[in-house]
Amino acid sequence: MKVKLLKYTPDPERTVAAAARLCYSASGVDALLDMGCDEVERLIDLLRQRGHESPFEHASFTFAVEGISRACSHQLVRHRLASYSQQSQRWVRGDAAWHVVPPSVARRPEAARLFADFLARAGEVYRALAAMGVPREDARYVLPNAVATRMVVTMNARELLHVFRLRCCQRAQWEIRAVAYLMLRECRKVAPLLFAKAGPPCQVDGTCPEEWTGCPRYPGRRPS
Ligand SMILES: Cc1cc2nc3c(=O)[nH]c(=O)nc-3n(C[C@H](O)[C@H](O)[C@H](O)COP(=O)(O)OP(=O)(O)OC[C@H]3O[C@@H](n4cnc5c(N)ncnc54)[C@H](O)[C@@H]3O)c2cc1C
Repeated sequence: MKVKLLKYTPDPERTVAAAARLCYSASGVDALLDMGCDEVERLIDLLRQRGHESPFEHASFTFAVEGISRACSHQLVRHRLASYSQQSQRWVRGDAAWHVVPPSVARRPEAARLFADFLARAGEVYRALAAMGVPREDARYVLPNAVATRMVVTMNARELLHVFRLRCCQRAQWEIRAVAYLMLRECRKVAPLLFAKAGPPCQVDGTCPEEWTGCPRYPGRRPS
């Protein structure tokens, strides 16, 4: 799996701080960006403390994601406040050989064999259908969720914080969690202040919406 930050709003932290400054001071638009790093940090902290999240929407981040399963991409695209472009199975020939094997399968030799046989068979049927003249858009119906994909994803910082809250959770499915952590790592490289308090609620504010499920990382929080 690869997650690459392709582009982002230039100076994203100052952009968010400028939006906050516009809300909270009499600053005219010409002076909005004229502030020191301390003021940028103070304003971002202030927004966070007040739960005033809309200024975070002014910073956008575009990622290229490669080598995730279709099972994972389906979870990612459920986040609606984002833009997506995904490699087409109508125009690009499907390839069951390029797939993701979940660790729970990989570590069980018999399961891994069964999984590999099934994918090989799915690939054979896909190619056989194509050879019979079935268009790719229909032949793809036999491709499993394990097949890998590529996509470009754009989200603003507010939506990213929301996604990290849900998907970095220890109880999130392993693959979407891995994607979320890689995205967070990229974001922190270029906007550490915006993403200083990003991640699952247990790390951000000590709460746990998954408490009832019994998180293995927080045994003290197991349901009674
Ligand atoms: C632990 C977990 C379990 C899940 N289980 C299932 C499942 O069993 N079945 C299933 O189908 N999905 C499941 N999902 C996916 C889930 O239902 C959502 O589709 C996914 O989390 C993305 O939606 P979102 O609410 O997080 O918000 P996003 O789409 O990321 O939008 C961000 C926020 O914008 C607001 N928003 C966006 N659109 C609207 C709207 N139309 N109306 C009002 N407010 C809006 C909401 O405040 C929302 O939280 C699960 C997700 C998680 C994290």
